[in-house]
Amino acid sequence: MNNLDYDVVIVGGGPAGLTAGLYSSRAGLNSLLIERGLVGGQIVNAELVENYPGFPEGISGYELGQVMHRQATKYGLKTLLTEVTGIELQETQKVIKTTEGSFTTRAVIIAGGSERQKLGVPGEEKFTGKGVSYCATCDAAFFREKPVAIVGGGNAAITEALHLVKFASRVTVIHRRNQLRATRILQERAFSEPVIEFLWDSTVEEIEGEDFVKRLRINHVPTGNKSSLEVAGVFISIGFKPDTAYLKDILPLDAVGHIITNEKMETEVPGIYAAGDIRYNSGRQAVTAAGDGATAAIYAEKFLAEK
Ligand SMILES: Cc1cc2nc3c(=O)[nH]c(=O)nc-3n(C[C@H](O)[C@H](O)[C@H](O)COP(=O)(O)OP(=O)(O)OC[C@H]3O[C@@H](n4cnc5c(N)ncnc54)[C@H](O)[C@@H]3O)c2cc1C
Repeated sequence: MNNLDYDVVIVGGGPAGLTAGLYSSRAGLNSLLIERGLVGGQIVNAELVENYPGFPEGISGYELGQVMHRQATKYGLKTLLTEVTGIELQETQKVIKTTEGSFTTRAVIIAGGSERQKLGVPGEEKFTGKGVSYCATCDAAFFREKPVAIVGGGNAAITEALHLVKFASRVTVIHRRNQLRATRILQERAFSEPVIEFLWDSTVEEIEGEDFVKRLRINHVPTGNKSSLEVAGVFISIGFKPDTAYLKDILPLDAVGHIITNEKMETEVPGIYAAGDIRYNSGRQAVTAAGDGATAAIYAEKFLAEK
């Protein structure tokens, strides 16, 4: 087809990148996946994934990443463990720059994910996966009939609070301001939900517990008064941080840095696609990321065939 190093280069080895790799390699395209950390992406942090289709008993996130990689590798996907630091657009090709050298390709699928922002308080790291969660859709079911808190006041936080009420005995929304940033309709739903309580003008100073989270130390910002809140879990929903600084000169990004695509996962640059959590308005689930990855690879294949 050409004398470039690859037909498709995929940046990121999470569910989006691995599925893109499965589809592109199975379509006979010479495909390289580049991952700077652990193959599997963020899902490797999930102890038990209960909402990925095909695994009725659930599957550990680590194992899910491993089997996805095995499946893609079976069809010829190559994997390189290094970091992509830049993409240079040339007339008929893209040059992928990494810490291990550069590669030429015609199509690129960017699937670098988006990390949840941390609170940065004592106890947060220690209790992650032991009561501290960054994803209510993923973990709410582990807190049936238990009191939980959610930190944040935007659309994501309130949507997650409304999801949590189906499981938890009490949901306390802790917000550093005295009003929510979420849309009016979400606010109305949250205010009319008897299980949801609000702690306004408040921040979490520390997360305490033994093996699991037991309580939060709360600071009331205007007065400086300290209090504690007994909870079995705390969901942190204060935003996401995609690592896309290296793309800002070549692709349109939203205010936070997520990549804007159409429904074909195409960006504004022909031959560059984005898939998974790194996309603006992504579903932020393994299965939605996988779906995006498949879509991106299908349209990348069409793009290459038309060339
Ligand atoms: C603790 C936890 C539990 C979760 N539980 C569930 C669950 O039960 N069910 C569910 O559906 N979802 C769950 N999720 C969410 C799910 O993991 C994500 O939605 C999904 O992994 C997103 O996939 P992705 O491929 O878009 O990105 P990611 O999984 O984030 O993968 C992106 C990869 O790209 C790599 N990367 C980024 N930039 C570069 C670069 N410049 N060069 C090279 N590599 C790069 C990163 O190292 C990373 O491995 C959970 C998330 C967490 C954190």
